Amino acid sequence: MNKKVLTGEKITISIKDLKIGDNHSPIFIAGPCSVESKEQILETALKLKEIGIHVLRGGVFKPRTSPYDFQGLEIEGLKYLKEAGDAANLPIITELMDEKNMDLVLEYADIIQIGSRNMYNYSLLKALGKIKKPVLLKRGMSASIREWSMAAEYIAAYGNKNIILCERGIRTFETYTRNTLDLAAVPIMKKETGLPVIVDPSHGTGIRELIAPMSKAALACGANGLMIEVHPNPEKALSDGHQSLTLDQYKELFDEIK
Ligand code: PEP
Ligand code: MN
Repeated sequence: MNKKVLTGEKITISIKDLKIGDNHSPIFIAGPCSVESKEQILETALKLKEIGIHVLRGGVFKPRTSPYDFQGLEIEGLKYLKEAGDAANLPIITELMDEKNMDLVLEYADIIQIGSRNMYNYSLLKALGKIKKPVLLKRGMSASIREWSMAAEYIAAYGNKNIILCERGIRTFETYTRNTLDLAAVPIMKKETGLPVIVDPSHGTGIRELIAPMSKAALACGANGLMIEVHPNPEKALSDGHQSLTLDQYKELFDEIK
């Protein structure tokens, strides 16, 4: 088998009434790195809905570098995220880390996020090929463009072409930023796969002040959306507070882009 399923022919992804792709306006995904409490995610969801976002994010299974860091609220967090999404009338996205939680995450989430660390998890990618829900496939932190497009090809080849790609920065010799945001990958991946590509400038830079300029740059080069970490009180966040925008900062950026 050497014929690719993702030929470059344009694919539009639908989540309820929401469409993601070149013939539609960019989608805005926002929310905290981690769901921390019922109140935190509900407050964030309601304010973000008022600002105008399309999808609420929140991690409940967290892939942390240190085993001593906050690992996420797991099923409890998933329920809080779902309740907040329902209250705000927003679809939700959360990360799936391993196959054993797939049915659980599928029951709650509208989009399944596959994190950078799992982009090379081929058994997980094959399993995602057998579902119908959209998958947001983040670029592996050291993945080449070919490796990333082949990871998407795995999901598609096993039966699911509902894939949104997410450029989230790659590891380079540069240490000033958390990662190096590779915006050239956006038009390349759009052309190579035909899939919509969004950008995550939060992990892509790791620096709050860089989120706004990199968001604008991402849209200028054709990104089909943005995923940004927002927290009602970043100083108190249990993960990634340093790169999270406050609700006011997010509103300012959102209004400017609109
Ligand atoms: C995240 O979105 O919170 C996350 C862990 O991202 P990544 O997989 O890109 O590091
Ligand atoms: Mn994060």
